[in-house]
Amino acid sequence: MKKKIIIIGGGVAGLSAGIYAARNCFDTEILEMHSVAGGQCTAWTRKGYRFDYCLHWLVGTSKGAFNNIWKETGVIDESTIVIDHEIHSETILPDGRKFVIYSNIDRWEKYLHELAPEDARSITRMCNDMRKSAYLEPFNDPPGLRSAGTYISSLFKILPVVRTIQKFGRKTCKEYFDSLNFKNPLLRDALYLSYGERDFSALVFIFMLGWFNQKNAGYIIGGSYPLAQRMLNTYIKEGGRMCFGKKVESIIVQDDTVKGVVLSDGTKTEADYVIAACDGYSTIFKMLGGKYVSSKVRKAYDKWPLFTALVQVSFGVNRKIIDSTPIINVMSPGKQLGITKLSNGYGIMNYGFDPSMAPEGKTTLVIRFESPWELWESLDEQQYKDAKEKTLADALALLEEHYPGISADVEVTDVATPRTTVRYTGVRKGAYEGFLPTSQNMMKSLDMTLPRLKKFYMAGQWLFPGGGLPPSAQTGKWAVQYICKEEGLLFKN
Ligand SMILES: Cc1cc2nc3c(=O)[nH]c(=O)nc-3n(C[C@H](O)[C@H](O)[C@H](O)COP(=O)(O)OP(=O)(O)OC[C@H]3O[C@@H](n4cnc5c(N)ncnc54)[C@H](O)[C@@H]3O)c2cc1C
Repeated sequence: MKKKIIIIGGGVAGLSAGIYAARNCFDTEILEMHSVAGGQCTAWTRKGYRFDYCLHWLVGTSKGAFNNIWKETGVIDESTIVIDHEIHSETILPDGRKFVIYSNIDRWEKYLHELAPEDARSITRMCNDMRKSAYLEPFNDPPGLRSAGTYISSLFKILPVVRTIQKFGRKTCKEYFDSLNFKNPLLRDALYLSYGERDFSALVFIFMLGWFNQKNAGYIIGGSYPLAQRMLNTYIKEGGRMCFGKKVESIIVQDDTVKGVVLSDGTKTEADYVIAACDGYSTIFKMLGGKYVSSKVRKAYDKWPLFTALVQVSFGVNRKIIDSTPIINVMSPGKQLGITKLSNGYGIMNYGFDPSMAPEGKTTLVIRFESPWELWESLDEQQYKDAKEKTLADALALLEEHYPGISADVEVTDVATPRTTVRYTGVRKGAYEGFLPTSQNMMKSLDMTLPRLKKFYMAGQWLFPGGGLPPSAQTGKWAVQYICKEEGLLFKN
């Protein structure tokens, strides 16, 4: 008899768990409340335009442990086209000055030296810190299943970067920039306004650009939708069952052992194991009633800040628009956009680099900005409708500033709000990557199990501050590795 694993949630973590569980000969069922797979890794099509709500960069497009997972789950194969943008982003400051971030560090360093010769030494220091991320390599196996040899060889590999981690592991971006003591006004303003206004980990800033430099954080042509569909196809091919429109209400526990789940329609489904690959807070404090909480978990959910939810306004434009950069970040703190007073600004994304995003000769453009969940949470139906209309009108006016005359060519519009995210994915407060990676939690993670609770694992973005697709998929895999170990089975990739 095959043992049965129920997976709650068909996002990237749940799909990954499902693939590895089915491949390792478990009887698997993914219970997904929505009608499509992918969770937050999603996109929708309107009159031939695809509006993508996730993928910009996927760590692991060329090598390493994450790349192994993307290959094993069918996301990447020899036919996959990956784009590594030459320019990471362009920033426009409130007074109109422009600043560019190149993906290649040598190229960026040259640009910075030309821009700010007075900061030559600091620029070189910063770029060298970034280059060191090449020595970092995520582990293949989860904690507890790694051999001593793996730890030793990894320690040797990361030696050149240990000092950087020690030095900046608990520093914010602002503290890091302070230590570099930049003098050039444009360089200072661009970096401080973009990254220095909140407790955002310096290491994330340093290593993020390092991954682009290694061409290991590319964009997959087609974006989020095919990414999720390929995982779903792999899961089905392995023999897994995908059940849409099934919302889990609670997890059945007897004698501290998980026995199955109860759906919102009252149906009970039994299982030998449950992997919760959905919102972390809902799992721990609602489905399990807050009965299995370690002090570490309580502290995290009480104290760690979350990513601020997003509003995305998408436009289908009957005109081909070519930009040199995929993202323009316009810094405009305090500006009113619909019901949102912007904390730092908004991004304009031109998907023209991906021909699958719009019909021939047309362009998909997106304006995206942070908008706290609390602003949207308690609007009534009419207020919500008005807020969306106002947001659309303001966003279109901004687009007009960047592309004069464009309004005449806009043929499709779409507004997705924090309420859209919460309704379709259940993610707490629309926090799209979970916990914000700060100077305080950067080197921390949460356990995949809960104290005393047996036959239960968690997977997904809530286990690592910074979240994102790679750790979500990886923890799905790890959950199955732990289950195989419990069952005395040799894990198959
Ligand atoms: C706008 C945006 C841009 C992003 N850009 C990137 C990027 O460029 N690169 C990157 O790496 N990451 C990016 N992310 C983050 C990434 O999408 C998420 O971190 C990741 O998809 C989380 O996957 P997950 O499986 O852990 O959770 P989710 O995607 O939240 O999946 C959870 C699933 O569980 C289901 N569910 C919830 N509750 C229940 C229930 N009670 N019963 C049944 N099913 C339930 C949900 O419907 C959902 O399908 C972005 C996210 C957003 C929103």
